[in-house]
Amino acid sequence: MRLDTPIEQLERIGPIYRARLHKLGIKTIGNLLFHIPHRYQDYSQITPIRDATLNDIVTVQGKILSIEASRTWKKHLHLTEAIIQDETSAIKAVWFNQPYLSQNLKEEMYVLLSGKVTLTKDSLCLSSPVYEILGDGEITKNDTLHTGRLVPIYPETAGLSSRWLRYVIHSLLPIADNIPDYLPDEILRRQDIPELARALKTVHFPHSLNDAERAKKRLAFGELFLIQTVALKEKYRLRQEHAPQITTDVELAKKFVASLPYALTDSQRATTWEILQDMEKPYPMNRLLEGDVGSGKTVVAAFAAMQAINAGYQVAFMVPTEILAEQHFRALTALLCNKKTFAQPSIAALTSSSHKKTSRKISYAPFVISKERVGKETLAGDIDIVVGTHALIQETVKFKNLGLIIIDEQHRFGVEQRAALARQKDGPTLRENRGGSVRPAKIIPHLLSMTATPIPRTLSLTIFGDLDLSLIKQFPKGRKQIISKLIPPADRYEAYRFIESQIHEGRQAFVICPLIDESDKLDAKAATKEFEKLQKEIFPHLKIALIHGKMKGKEKEKIMQSFKEKEADILVATSVVEVGIDVPNASVMIIEGADRFGLAQLYQFRGRVGRGEHQSYCFLFTDSSAKTTSQRLKALLTAKNSFELAEKDLEIRGPGDFIGSRQSGIPDLAMASLTDFEFVKEVRKEVESVLTSDPELKNNHLLRERYENFRREIHFE
Ligand code: ADP
Ligand code: MG
Repeated sequence: MRLDTPIEQLERIGPIYRARLHKLGIKTIGNLLFHIPHRYQDYSQITPIRDATLNDIVTVQGKILSIEASRTWKKHLHLTEAIIQDETSAIKAVWFNQPYLSQNLKEEMYVLLSGKVTLTKDSLCLSSPVYEILGDGEITKNDTLHTGRLVPIYPETAGLSSRWLRYVIHSLLPIADNIPDYLPDEILRRQDIPELARALKTVHFPHSLNDAERAKKRLAFGELFLIQTVALKEKYRLRQEHAPQITTDVELAKKFVASLPYALTDSQRATTWEILQDMEKPYPMNRLLEGDVGSGKTVVAAFAAMQAINAGYQVAFMVPTEILAEQHFRALTALLCNKKTFAQPSIAALTSSSHKKTSRKISYAPFVISKERVGKETLAGDIDIVVGTHALIQETVKFKNLGLIIIDEQHRFGVEQRAALARQKDGPTLRENRGGSVRPAKIIPHLLSMTATPIPRTLSLTIFGDLDLSLIKQFPKGRKQIISKLIPPADRYEAYRFIESQIHEGRQAFVICPLIDESDKLDAKAATKEFEKLQKEIFPHLKIALIHGKMKGKEKEKIMQSFKEKEADILVATSVVEVGIDVPNASVMIIEGADRFGLAQLYQFRGRVGRGEHQSYCFLFTDSSAKTTSQRLKALLTAKNSFELAEKDLEIRGPGDFIGSRQSGIPDLAMASLTDFEFVKEVRKEVESVLTSDPELKNNHLLRERYENFRREIHFE
C-alpha cells in the first residue's frame, strides 16, 4: 500500500463511506493520512469516579457491572444504561438512541468513558459518554483511540464521524513508516523538526498538545516547502530562457520624463528603474508592480513600453475589461504620442466591439479600423502597442516582434498561469510569433503585471514566489486624504443629504451595491432594485445611471463614458466598476453592504474617488453588527496604506478568504501558516539553499518526486 493507493482498495471501506470520504476530498490513503485533526479533546486525565463532579467533563476507567437497553415510556427513545465501577466508586452512564451499544459493551468489560457529569433523579451520571473498550485487563491508556488520551477531532461530514476517522486512520498509520521523508536531513536537523512519519503519527495521536503543535508545524513546513519550491523553480526556470535584451536609452528616458506634465514620485522612479534593469537582462522579466489605485502605475508601464518600442519591439497591453482597454488606450496615447521629442509609436485598441488606432500619420487622432487590419498591421510590425482584454489579445493577435507583455489588474493569476503566460507554451499565437520563422527560436517576451491589490508578505513569498516585486509606496503629491466613515443605519438619511449637497456643488457619486454572490445575475438584479429605489424615493430630481455585469461591453462602456462626461450625477454599480475607472469629478463613494466585501476590495472601491482636486468621501453602509465586521471596517478607516491593510485583512479573515478560493489546492496546514511571516521566511531560506546548490533536484530525488506529484495536485488559483 502506498500513499497514492485509492481508498477503493481498502476492503474495510464500503461504497457508502467511500462516497462520504470523497465529500471531504479524500481519495487516497495519503489523503486519509494527511486528514489532520483540527483540534484535540483532552480525555487524558482519568478521574477516580469518587471525584466526578457535577457539570465536569471527565474520563473514568472501570468495569461494567451491568448494562441494559430499554425504550422510554414514550417509545421514542432507545435508552442504554450501564453502571461502571472503579476502585473508588461507581457511576451510571446513559446513552440515548444508540441501540447497538448493548451489542458492543458487555458486562465485565473494562472501559474508558468520557463525558459530562449530569444529574438524573438525585444521582450523578455520565451523559452519552464517549466509550472505549479496554478488554478485560489493565491496558495502558496510550493504546486507546477515543478516550483516555488527547483525542483527535477531525473535520467531519454527515455520516462520517471523528470516531470512525480515528479508527480508520489509526489502522493505516503503520504505512506512515514506509513514507520516506522528502525533506533533506540537514533541514530537519537545522530546523529541529521531526521526521515526516513521526510527525504524522504524532499529529493524529499525540501525547501532549505540545507534541501535536510541533508535528503540525513540521507538516506545515513540508507543505510550504513544496509550494515555495514550485514557485522558486518556476522563477529559476525562467532564467534559463531567452528574452530580448532591451538596453535603456537614457536620452530617451530623460526626454520622456521632461515631457510629462508632472514630476514622477520617488516610488515611480525606483520601480521604473527596477523594470528597465530587468528588461536589459538576457532572460525574461517576471515582475509585479504593486501600487495603490491612483499611485500612478500607468506611466511606469508606459515608460517600459516606450523603451521596448525604441529597441524595436512590440508591446501587448492586456487589461481585464473593455472599459479599461479604452481608458488605457487614451492614457497611452496621451503619454507617448504626439510628442515631438521622441519616437512616436502607433497604438491600437482592440475590444470585441470597437477597434481604434492612433498613428503618427494622421496626428494621433484615434480612428476606427477593422479588427482584421489591427491583426494584419500588428503581424507586419506596423502597430507598436496593442491594448485589449487578455482573452482577445491571446487568442487573436499575432505579433511580429513582441518584446513586452503588460498585464493590468491581474494579480489573481496563479503561478501556473503566470508561468504559461510567461513562457507562452500554450498560447499558439504568441508562441508562433516567438518560436516561428520571424525570430530566433524561443525568445520570450518580458512580463510586467500590475495590481492595486496589495499582497501580504507571506503570499508574496509563497504563491506569488515566482514573481519579483516592485512597490509604489507613495501617492503623487497633493492628493487629499479621502474622508471615510462607517454609517450606521440611523444616519443613512443624513448621509444622503450630504451626498445631495456634494452633487449640488457639481460633484458626482458612486453607489456600490452589495455582493449577493458570485453570479452576475443576482447582483444585477440587486443593483437594479437599488437604482430604482434611489431614483424614486431618495433622489427623484437627480440623474442616476446604472451599470452591472449583465450588460454588454459596449453598453457598459457607453454608460461609463457618459458618467465621465457628467451626464449622470450618481452611478449605481455592481462590483464591475472595481477596477481602474478614472472619474476625477466623482467625490463620493457609497458602499452598500460593506461587510460583504473584503478589505482589499473596499480599498479598491474607495480608490475610485479622490482622483481629482476635490475633497472626497467614502461612506460604508452596513447592517451587520457582527464584531469582526466592525473591526474589519475600522481597519479600513485607520490603515495608513494598503500594504498594512492587506496584512490586517489576512489576520482577520484568514488566508482562505484572502486567496479567495478554498479549492486552490493549497493544503490546510500550509494555508493556516500563511499568517506567520517569520515562519514562511524561514522556509523560503531553506528552499533557496536547496535550489541554489541543486536546481534540478538531482541529488534530492525524494524531494524531486514529491515535488512533481505536488505540482500535479495543486492548482494555485
Ligand atoms: P493607477 O496606479 O491606479 O493605475 P494611474 O496610472 O491611473 O494610477 O494614475 C492616476 C492619476 O495620477 C492619473 O491621472 C495620472 O495622470 C496621475 N499621475 C500619475 N503619476 C503622477 C505624478 N507623479 N504626479 C501627479 N500625477 C500623477
Ligand atoms: Mg491602473
